[in-house]
Amino acid sequence: MTADVVVVGSGPNGLVAAAFLARTGFSVTVFEGESTVGGGCRSAALTLPGFIHDICAAVHPLGISSPGFASLPLAAHGLNWRQPEIPLAHPLDDGSAALLERSLDRTAAGFGRDGDAYRRLVAPFVARWSGLVPDILAPAVTGTVPRHPLLMARFGLHALRSVRGLVDGRFVERGTKALFAGLAVHGLLPLERPPTASFAMVLGAAAHAVGWPLVAGGSQNLADALAACVRAAGGDIVRDHPVRAAADIPPARAVLFDISPRHLLGLAGDRFPLSYRQALRRFRHGPGVFKVDWALSGPIPWRNGACRRAGTVHLGGTFGEIARSERQVWLGGHPDRPAVLLVQPTVCDASRAPAGKHVAWAYCHVPAGSPVDMAAAVEAQVERFASGFKDLVIGRHVMPPAAMEAHNPNYIGGDITGGVQSLRQTFFRPVAGRDPYRLPVPGWFLCSASTPPGGGVHGMCGLHAAQRARHWLEKKSST
Ligand SMILES: Cc1cc2nc3c(=O)[nH]c(=O)nc-3n(C[C@H](O)[C@H](O)[C@H](O)COP(=O)(O)OP(=O)(O)OC[C@H]3O[C@@H](n4cnc5c(N)ncnc54)[C@H](O)[C@@H]3O)c2cc1C
Repeated sequence: MTADVVVVGSGPNGLVAAAFLARTGFSVTVFEGESTVGGGCRSAALTLPGFIHDICAAVHPLGISSPGFASLPLAAHGLNWRQPEIPLAHPLDDGSAALLERSLDRTAAGFGRDGDAYRRLVAPFVARWSGLVPDILAPAVTGTVPRHPLLMARFGLHALRSVRGLVDGRFVERGTKALFAGLAVHGLLPLERPPTASFAMVLGAAAHAVGWPLVAGGSQNLADALAACVRAAGGDIVRDHPVRAAADIPPARAVLFDISPRHLLGLAGDRFPLSYRQALRRFRHGPGVFKVDWALSGPIPWRNGACRRAGTVHLGGTFGEIARSERQVWLGGHPDRPAVLLVQPTVCDASRAPAGKHVAWAYCHVPAGSPVDMAAAVEAQVERFASGFKDLVIGRHVMPPAAMEAHNPNYIGGDITGGVQSLRQTFFRPVAGRDPYRLPVPGWFLCSASTPPGGGVHGMCGLHAAQRARHWLEKKSST
């Protein structure tokens, strides 16, 4: 029997696509290569029994903002957000820390002479966050007009530039500049390149508007809630079922691929015209990540007390130091003092570890596929701002880029964003064209983070692709 829809891959995008189409009334089957659903949204006891670690995504400002997730009854299927008291802390060597707090007022007050400039920059977007998000998490070039064109134009004016350009001339305080550098590091680009400011603007405004929550019990519970939505609507999810060739896909009226362009080429490139194959081959991946997870016998002893209340802590010192580190990685080097993104889930979720114990998660960037062991450099950065940290480590698990790619084939060379988020690949993702989701085979769509709006756990690539698939299926039914 021909299914209406097959989805290849059960990452957040694949699951949102599957849930949307199943809830619309189509028969849906998801094929997942691994034994657990969720792709980059899975958790496991990586170090010691009873210590739950998010293997990939841990912090969800985009998830809690996502219209795709909001359209699904995730809470009814067990999703609970946990908000840390402070979304982000950025400690400096003098013992101070720049804080991104839930309150815009308190954050601005903490930025001293930069307070007014900060407020002017982000307040308009914080105030209208829920209106702005659908435009930010939408494809930029499909001929569609943003829902809020003026607000979006104002946002784009700041976001589509480098974070260095955004910060220079606007901020004077070392702490504010450092905090913006740390925010922009999430873009995996040198901080002199556009659109690094966009990552700082989105993450900064989201902290005030919706917070930077974690998922109670681990990110896996978000993936499981998404999977439950698929099943509740009659969809089927087949695990341990890698799709290695187009011939492995059973007959279906529409197929959505939550996979990388490179694997799509390997799997079905012979079905595409030469020009599309060539365009897909030009899609670029960025640097990789080197990740460390720890089981800890106590909370991290941050010198700055506010860091002990923050869900996320960015380590790397000043703007200049972080910019140097990211530039070095981009050019193929390994910084002695890498910029480190650290999450301490147990500050807001005691269920992640046995009583009195803690978990922490951190990564730094490395050149794609790098075999260099960065664990000591990452731990030295934590120790720099929290001396005594190493004495608390009772379990450690490291994932260099090769392990990341083994965990999830979409992380090519350890690239966690589904392809470099350069200005070009922000607009043309995966290729230039009017519809980034539609593949040149009738009824086939790409729905992974290699389509707009790109990396992150938000499911919006899946939702946009699924909306096009629905249109296709309905058109076919009526002809
Ligand atoms: C270390 C790390 C930290 C991160 N931190 C955050 C964070 O804090 N917040 C955030 O929002 N994002 C974060 N991310 C990014 C986020 O995880 C990804 O952007 C997101 O998961 C992409 O979702 P996706 O649905 O496009 O694909 P993926 O999550 O990559 O899922 C793809 C799925 O498809 C399956 N698959 C692939 N090929 C096949 C095949 N041929 N047959 C069958 N199945 C297949 C894979 O096994 C996988 O399950 C992080 C990622 C990493 C690695």
